[in-house]
Amino acid sequence: MTVETLPPGMDASFRGQIIRPGDTDYNATRAVFNGMVDKRPSLIVRPSGSLDVADAVNYARGHDLPVAVRCGGHSVAGKSTTEGGVLIDLRSLKGVHVDPVARIAYCNGGALWGEFDRETQAFGLATPGGRMTTTGVGGFTLGGGYGWLSPVHGLACDNLVSVDVVTADGRVVIASEDINPELFWGVRGGGGDFGVVTSYRFRLHPVGPIVRAGLLIWSATEAESVIAGWRDYVEQAPDELSTALGMLVAPPEPFVPTDLVGKPVLAMFVLYAGDPDDGMDCIEPLTKLGNVQVNLVEPMPYTTFQAMPDPMAPAGWLNYWRGHHLAGLDGGAIDAYAALGRELPSAMTQLIMFRHGGAVSRVADDAMAASHRDAVYMMHPIAQWQDPVDTARHRAWVERCGAAIEPHLTGGTYINFEPDDDEAKVRAGYSADKYAKLVAIKDAWDPDNLFRENLNIKPSGADHERRHQRATP
Ligand SMILES: Cc1cc2nc3c(=O)[nH]c(=O)nc-3n(C[C@H](O)[C@H](O)[C@H](O)COP(=O)(O)OP(=O)(O)OC[C@H]3O[C@@H](n4cnc5c(N)ncnc54)[C@H](O)[C@@H]3O)c2cc1C
Repeated sequence: MTVETLPPGMDASFRGQIIRPGDTDYNATRAVFNGMVDKRPSLIVRPSGSLDVADAVNYARGHDLPVAVRCGGHSVAGKSTTEGGVLIDLRSLKGVHVDPVARIAYCNGGALWGEFDRETQAFGLATPGGRMTTTGVGGFTLGGGYGWLSPVHGLACDNLVSVDVVTADGRVVIASEDINPELFWGVRGGGGDFGVVTSYRFRLHPVGPIVRAGLLIWSATEAESVIAGWRDYVEQAPDELSTALGMLVAPPEPFVPTDLVGKPVLAMFVLYAGDPDDGMDCIEPLTKLGNVQVNLVEPMPYTTFQAMPDPMAPAGWLNYWRGHHLAGLDGGAIDAYAALGRELPSAMTQLIMFRHGGAVSRVADDAMAASHRDAVYMMHPIAQWQDPVDTARHRAWVERCGAAIEPHLTGGTYINFEPDDDEAKVRAGYSADKYAKLVAIKDAWDPDNLFRENLNIKPSGADHERRHQRATP
């Protein structure tokens, strides 16, 4: 890139790539996971390192343009792009380096979880990451990050050792327990509000590479009794056992009995994150619940298990979801869940029930921004469809799920599953005290709210609001 082709005002030492409207790559680069989102940045910056990110931040601040940051692009709320602002597309920063002796992974800001796991699994190591390979390390970790390994090793952000951050004033700083500890508290669950994280250092744990894992499927007619049996079993099972339920429409796959294809079923993803032989004994009682129709649980590479759910979430489809922390899973909650799961509005729509707890719940709630650790179940309606004509019907089903489960909710939200930046929902991601602390961190690191293309924690000063309203195109 020559100085002449740089946008006026961009630092001459910039080494990355610039993409503008009209360029060949523009449309493919601005596309995000959720097909509901169609925003047109005025400039896309693909950095070659932290200093290029700083150049982009300085450029945006100098032109009073909003900044969006993209890693995996999975934000259902469409927050990894911007209308008219500067998009910093971190996918140009992919490197993952593993120190197997120290059990630390150094990961650049644009890596996806599949890319991360590929490198760490070469050494039989892993950290809790996305339950799908295509989710970005960035948004997932900064918002908290519940993965298959969470019951045994906590949230993704619990495993952060430090991060490098480009701040709103264009500096590159480290944040860890010892260096800028308040910033480190905020980025672990507070989202991308405080700066652009250009690299992560994660603690790693021995996992696999072969684990006992897979998928079980029952007819939806058995849902209530199987779910009750699952709850009773997992509540006293070891943390190595990780499971999630999904009510979904059985796909026409060779492993699905023909009489189930096209009908609602109860599926269970199962992972035993320890010795595969111990896993056989631990998982067996789950296979004895009801009349299991599909049993694909077997020893397999951890990376194969991580990729198993990928076909359930194709990029570009229209998406709308929420995440509901539950106070518990009594008979009423099970009945509501099973009834909703039999009324799925389309074949790609799913009603997920996660079980967390274990190591997630053992971290003190005030240790970092990530919150609601005492809620061990989460209901997650995921509506996916292709024709915009169906949008209202799918959104209505997701909202109906929330209304039906309402008596069982804690009231807390999980920002990574929020479909828009409704301020009340963002606040509900944290206790009042923790939200006040996040605002104080925002005041210290981004008082003008340059980083507002996210589930925004607004700084306490009001002036930036008026200024941005005038400046935003
Ligand atoms: C198919 C699918 C599966 C999912 N599975 C899970 C799951 O199992 N568990 C779970 O907890 N969540 C899950 N999620 C939700 C996921 O955690 C969020 O969508 C998360 O935001 C995705 O991160 P990303 O990097 O892919 O997203 P992006 O859309 O790229 O980023 C999301 C937000 O984070 C900001 N951001 C990203 N990187 C940075 C950075 N380096 N610095 C500053 N800000 C940054 C963006 O600006 C944006 O506001 C899933 C989502 C999808 C679509």
